Amino acid sequence: MSMTRRELLHCFGVTAAGLAGPGCIGWTREEAIPVDSWHKSVCRFCGSGCETRVGLRDGKVVKVEGLQEGWNRGRLCIKGLLNREILYVSDRAQYPMVRKNGQLVRASWEEALDTAAAGFREAIAQGGPDAVAYYGSGQLFSQESYTANKLFKGGIGTNNVDGNPRLCMASAAFGYKSVFGADEPTGCYDDIEHATLFFVIGANMAECHPVVWERVRDRIRTAPQTRVIVVDPRRTPTARDATLHLQLRPGTDVALLNAMAHELLRTGLVDRAFINDFLTFRKGSADTQPLTAEDFQKFLEDYAPEKVADLCGLSSAEIREAARLWGISQAVTSFWTMGLNQQTHGVAANRMVMALHLLTGQIGRPGASPFSLTGQPNAGGGVRDTGSLAHALPAGRVVTKEKDRHEMEKLWGLPEGRISPTPGLSAVPLFEAMREGKVRAALVMATNPARSLPNADRYRAGMEKAFLVVCDSIFPTDTAQLADVFLPAAMWAEKEGVFSQSERRYHLVEKLVEPPGEARSDLDILVAFGERLGHGELLKARTPEAVWDEWRRISAGSTYDFTGITYERLRKLPGLVWPCPSEDHPGTCHRYVPGKDPLAKKKEGRIDFYARPDGRAIVYLSEQGPFRDALTSDYPMTLTTGRRLEHWHTATLTGRIPQLQGIDIDYLEIHPGDAAVMGVKEGDLVQVTSARGSVRLQAKPSMRVRPGVVFALMHSMKHLVNAATSDAVDPISAQPEYKVAAVRVERVKEGT
Ligand code: SF4
Repeated sequence: MSMTRRELLHCFGVTAAGLAGPGCIGWTREEAIPVDSWHKSVCRFCGSGCETRVGLRDGKVVKVEGLQEGWNRGRLCIKGLLNREILYVSDRAQYPMVRKNGQLVRASWEEALDTAAAGFREAIAQGGPDAVAYYGSGQLFSQESYTANKLFKGGIGTNNVDGNPRLCMASAAFGYKSVFGADEPTGCYDDIEHATLFFVIGANMAECHPVVWERVRDRIRTAPQTRVIVVDPRRTPTARDATLHLQLRPGTDVALLNAMAHELLRTGLVDRAFINDFLTFRKGSADTQPLTAEDFQKFLEDYAPEKVADLCGLSSAEIREAARLWGISQAVTSFWTMGLNQQTHGVAANRMVMALHLLTGQIGRPGASPFSLTGQPNAGGGVRDTGSLAHALPAGRVVTKEKDRHEMEKLWGLPEGRISPTPGLSAVPLFEAMREGKVRAALVMATNPARSLPNADRYRAGMEKAFLVVCDSIFPTDTAQLADVFLPAAMWAEKEGVFSQSERRYHLVEKLVEPPGEARSDLDILVAFGERLGHGELLKARTPEAVWDEWRRISAGSTYDFTGITYERLRKLPGLVWPCPSEDHPGTCHRYVPGKDPLAKKKEGRIDFYARPDGRAIVYLSEQGPFRDALTSDYPMTLTTGRRLEHWHTATLTGRIPQLQGIDIDYLEIHPGDAAVMGVKEGDLVQVTSARGSVRLQAKPSMRVRPGVVFALMHSMKHLVNAATSDAVDPISAQPEYKVAAVRVERVKEGT
């Protein structure tokens, strides 16, 4: 069965834009459902973090709608409505399982946890603490990621703590930290109402952050002078709203951004006072010798628009026009996400977007903000802020700094020297180490790496080899099927915790209903597992509120200070945005602005980059660098991947919604010119092959993609698109390059 988008949206009472709110067409179907009580909550899907009202009846969630008082003004996209449906899909995990004679069979919690702990103890006995690992998710609550991080780094003594945010956000995190000295965006969603130019690069917001995009469209509708530049190799629904769409060649973002910087400097459309007073220039890393603005301008000579136009697949006039629109705009907000982050130049590209803001003084004013959109509901607050990554410790600390380790040892009540000074293994090397037998046991929570990792077949072999404990709310998933022990987890409204979202806003998700069968919260599971490994004393905070209070205290005095965001306030308010250092503080929209940011050391002035030792933000001289996956006669085309509105990640959740099952997610977009040369027609089965592997999909000739580029969705459940994607990683962030893979496309079978 196939279903048009219009028919599907009708099923859910959603408007054609994919958004739902009390005033939307079709909402009357929802209004007919009787509700016993209403409760405030948050969408568990994307990093937009839409606030919701949840209606209960007879102990079940019967309705989810947008919260009028929330930043989302009552709006939700179709995935927001699916928060209700996913609780009741048929494959909810209900009881623990242990592998016996090759089969996963039902077990008691005692047996499953004892088996998991025994597997870990054996791995540690054979290979030391670094023979085990934790691989988590931006879909866990902050308390859960924080507790896992504490257990592994502070208890077990390994920094092998990473997770799926490495796949989506690492380049943004390293970009912010290296430019401003602290991670996370500088502005907030309210900037949208003040921006006169939106620069959207590597983000299909209309499908992946649709409610934020709808707010942008409100701005466009009410302020017609507003301009939109979209930089994307595909003509996405977002690009349809663009004043200027730069359909660049995948992976050439740094060259384009450098060319825009060159043009801004050449035409004098920069803020010289801001450059002189607040910036410094470096090549490579923050601790290299400072350079000058003149050095930077000289460096950019190789990036004049006419020199890079061919590489980028654009005209020099298009690049000049983008720079001109930026330079003459009163207030620029840029948005980006995976399209920029998922490449081997991801950190350089992030730094260059921030550089454009800094060179033009487009920061710290209403509407002026370099704003990285978070992919998952809690990759920012839950994983980046809690330091639940292999190189990190909570609140901006890193494992390589002795002072940072000692601070955390003191805060966690550990003996000095307990935390290892060696960074752990990030996602791709971690699964490679499992293949090699160096990591012998791993705990995977709330994610599906067997399908979501690039070059996935290679790392699936690692998961088969290691002792694998998988904790998820759905069974089976590709990863769960490889487990030695499976632990069933509760889902959003079945447990309590805190989610953050892209604008640094923390929200409380309260427990409203009971989980199915014997499923437990991930926090309970981590505590029970930690106790069996002998670390119960370390995990004294065991309720979500107690863990939150501990994490709040640890944030005090740091550049992430949210001491003032208490549970009491979160219960009443539609979230709070940090920094928020006291219980009477309203939260902060514009960081680094004296008088607005409570952490600013200066009392007045335009800006105070207080997280940098010299108070100056850094503009990096960033080279475009060669492609890791070069085009050859064997692999002459570029595969790039992405998402669509109705589905989420590997479709573990949304793929189980009956109404979504008619939506086509198994196709390959190919330019009609390329299709004609290959004799490929709509519906033909084609094989996409890279140096790593291949996947077969139905061809869909489409003008959305540029010649030489093919596009596939990451959601496909039938076909493993990630068999062909590239596992080359950015040298700084270790984020893989999903967006650029050299492939060949061959017709296998005529369509019927
Ligand atoms: Fe949920 Fe994101 Fe849709 Fe908002 S935009 S309803 S957070 S999926």
